[in-house]
Amino acid sequence: MKTAVLLDKKEILRFYKKTNPQTHKGLQGHALVIAGSYGKMGAAVLASKAALKSGCGLVTAFVPQCGYTILQIANPEVMTITDEAEKEITKISTHNKYQAIGLGPGIGLANITQNAVLDFLKNNRIPLVIDADAITILPQNQDRLSFLQPKTIFTPHPKELERLIGKWESDEDKFQKTILFSKKFDVVMVMKGAPTFIIYQDEIYKNTSGNAALATAGSGDTLTGIITGLLAQGYSPLEAAQMGVFLHGLTADLAISDIGTHAFIASDCIAYLGKAFL
Ligand code: AMP
Ligand code: MG
Repeated sequence: MKTAVLLDKKEILRFYKKTNPQTHKGLQGHALVIAGSYGKMGAAVLASKAALKSGCGLVTAFVPQCGYTILQIANPEVMTITDEAEKEITKISTHNKYQAIGLGPGIGLANITQNAVLDFLKNNRIPLVIDADAITILPQNQDRLSFLQPKTIFTPHPKELERLIGKWESDEDKFQKTILFSKKFDVVMVMKGAPTFIIYQDEIYKNTSGNAALATAGSGDTLTGIITGLLAQGYSPLEAAQMGVFLHGLTADLAISDIGTHAFIASDCIAYLGKAFL
């Protein structure tokens, strides 16, 4: 196994792109965030806002109907489109105007949502981040995952990772299994934790930012939004994952000197994203 490359400011600055002064919102990427269900609409609010704050020009949220007013009020800058159903996602329709899609935060595990996610994944060709319930929905048998689109980014926490790669016996075994998964499907794996590792094929990156303040509800949803927003701006899947994970951790490092660890909530990831970029 290769040794991990430390993911720090220097690594990120190797590929960070400054904003072109002549740009307009239509050139800054349009991200679609597919998220939320009854009682978990906050995941859609957080992920779509984080996507916009990552610098992309336009963000659309796709949510069940019960999320329409919530999204429009919580995030006036985000456009909202809805499923036909009131409480959960039942059919996902997308459009090739999006440069990236983030799928999964708060969508729940209703049977009809599971079918909608699988149908969508079999047909989608747009760069994609798969998180949360969308990971849980995938068949656990790797032989039934051949429909996965190459270069997809996965952002599992440990329980979600276990569903993808199976149980591991040691840390070494976990890395080996994750590397195998990445190679088999040609996908980017964000192994969330303390610290987070990013694996693509044989390459391993160890994040150097972040702290325990991130152990809070909705934290992963903001990460998905940030990575989706960066992907929409034209960063490669590996770059978007690296930059997203580093910035996400940095928001918490900057925030705790102002507000401490205990009071930090996922909305603060979004609030401190500007300072993190600076
Ligand atoms: P999720 O479980 O999906 O909400 O994701 C949690 C996010 O917070 C991931 O990005 C984790 O890496 C991060 N996180 C959680 N706990 C810690 C910790 N103790 N130190 C650093 N990062 C953490
Ligand atoms: Mg999560």
